[in-house]
Amino acid sequence: MLGSMMQQPLLISSLLTHAERHHGDVQVVSRRVEGDVHRQTYRELAARSRRMANALAARGVAAGDRVATLAWNGYRHMELYYAVSGSGAVLHTINPRLHPEQVAWIADHAEDRILFFDLTFLPLVEAVAARTKSIRAYVAMTDRAHMPETSKVPDLLCYEDLIAGASERYTWPVFDENAPSSLCYTSGTTGNPKGVLYSHRSTILHTYAAALPDALNCSARDTILPVVPMFHVNAWGLPYAACMVGAKLVFPGPHLDGKSLYELFESEGVTVSAGVPTVWQGLLAHVEAHGLKFSTMHRTIIGGSACPPAMMRDFQQRHGVQVLHAWGMTEMSPLGTVCALRSRHAALPEEQRMAVQLKQGRAVYGVDMKIVDAEGAELPQDGKAAGELLVRGPWIVSRYFNSEDDPLVYADGVGWFPTGDVSTIDADGYMQITDRSKDVIKSGGEWIGSIDLENIAMSHPAVATAACIGVKHPKWDERPLLVVVRKPGAEVTREQLLAFYEGKVARWWTPDDVVFVDAIPLGATGKMQKTRLREQFANHELPGAGAVRPHA
Ligand code: AMP
Repeated sequence: MLGSMMQQPLLISSLLTHAERHHGDVQVVSRRVEGDVHRQTYRELAARSRRMANALAARGVAAGDRVATLAWNGYRHMELYYAVSGSGAVLHTINPRLHPEQVAWIADHAEDRILFFDLTFLPLVEAVAARTKSIRAYVAMTDRAHMPETSKVPDLLCYEDLIAGASERYTWPVFDENAPSSLCYTSGTTGNPKGVLYSHRSTILHTYAAALPDALNCSARDTILPVVPMFHVNAWGLPYAACMVGAKLVFPGPHLDGKSLYELFESEGVTVSAGVPTVWQGLLAHVEAHGLKFSTMHRTIIGGSACPPAMMRDFQQRHGVQVLHAWGMTEMSPLGTVCALRSRHAALPEEQRMAVQLKQGRAVYGVDMKIVDAEGAELPQDGKAAGELLVRGPWIVSRYFNSEDDPLVYADGVGWFPTGDVSTIDADGYMQITDRSKDVIKSGGEWIGSIDLENIAMSHPAVATAACIGVKHPKWDERPLLVVVRKPGAEVTREQLLAFYEGKVARWWTPDDVVFVDAIPLGATGKMQKTRLREQFANHELPGAGAVRPHA
């Protein structure tokens, strides 16, 4: 016997039709590449998305075809999210911070047919056009008046001409909810990037979970500004969740400096924002330098890398903005855990509550997770045992796009995705990342978590950013080296920084040396590239290397 409820596939187009019908008057506000602020409602967004779906069909884009974007967070990008996926094609959001060689490689691997791009990226698109074999048409995301002069991009079309020339009448097709909807390539710090092909079903289920109060907590009363790019794991699903709940959306376009973000937060009454720690550094520095306050923002979602305690303290204690720490991966759509507190944490003193909030959080329903040792045996959830974090669930990758390799590990016949992160899980279910497995510092057969050491350094008032890496040591295999960027005008010595660790970590965890640099290399998604630092400092001579150190 089966249940007798309606069979309705979970399709991305249903989010847009829901938004149009039930909160069609809610605004989507975008700072454009040109610098001005554009406004439209969900009703207008839906109408323009239908026009674009017609325009795509007229150009021969069929179900399953890949349509690529090189674009900032903005309303035209949002229209493509719905027009492309809604019509059955696959939206391939490409990270524009990659090298033209990599962009062309990814576009060819994905077999992208059309590339939509913001004007900022014209030089990149010109370089890509000379290299790619698969892209047959290019669309500049602008109007006729702003169309660029270029002879290096063949078949260049104008976005607003496509919209104007297409009918608003379009019926979103109904198809299998397991059909592909969008494609994202992982940052790929080693080897070639790998594609993760999301489905309509995985996206809708992820959206339900992301919107929950103990997850990203999105509601009709929110004005959400995603700083996290729409080219990086679908801006953590916020463009979908906002449509689902009827939140106002504010897109910052290319203007991601502290001043521009702050002005938009204030002028649009933003209540919630989301981004990686590196973007918040600029914002906090601007707010502090000018003695400003956030008048409407009360929550910020921080993920992508560990949130440094100093940043959490600044947001919460100085500015009254609650930090919601979240963890996920491209392979996970991306949401895995969110650090919402339980009721008994409310009574804890501030610092103890923060110690909980600094963990990456509890699994959202739909994500199952466990930690295992090197042999694959499950480790206890005691907050102490650290092992590789494995996950499974309906919005977690089972195979990379166009790849035969099976990335999963199997236990009792069940497939788990190995995250490459090393973590603990405590008795309350709070997961804490201690390292990427390749960043962990292996000293004397034991592991030193680089994130802890970085967080301590970053809580020093003279330190802007810090990375901790393992460098070769003749006796201990590897020892920690701290790489530090000082705050402008601030002074701190190697000895002072090393002394700063006293009493905060076991003695053998204290870095062996400190080097000062002007900047730490960041990858295309704003994360510190520790692999590059490891290369740069591969031959660094540690003081006293060879001397026996107490390893306890
Ligand atoms: P990506 O697929 O580029 O989003 O990278 C995913 C990786 O980023 C994860 O496997 C983690 O190593 C790291 N990551 C994401 N969120 C966090 C977080 N809150 N704390 C620490 N690392 C994180």
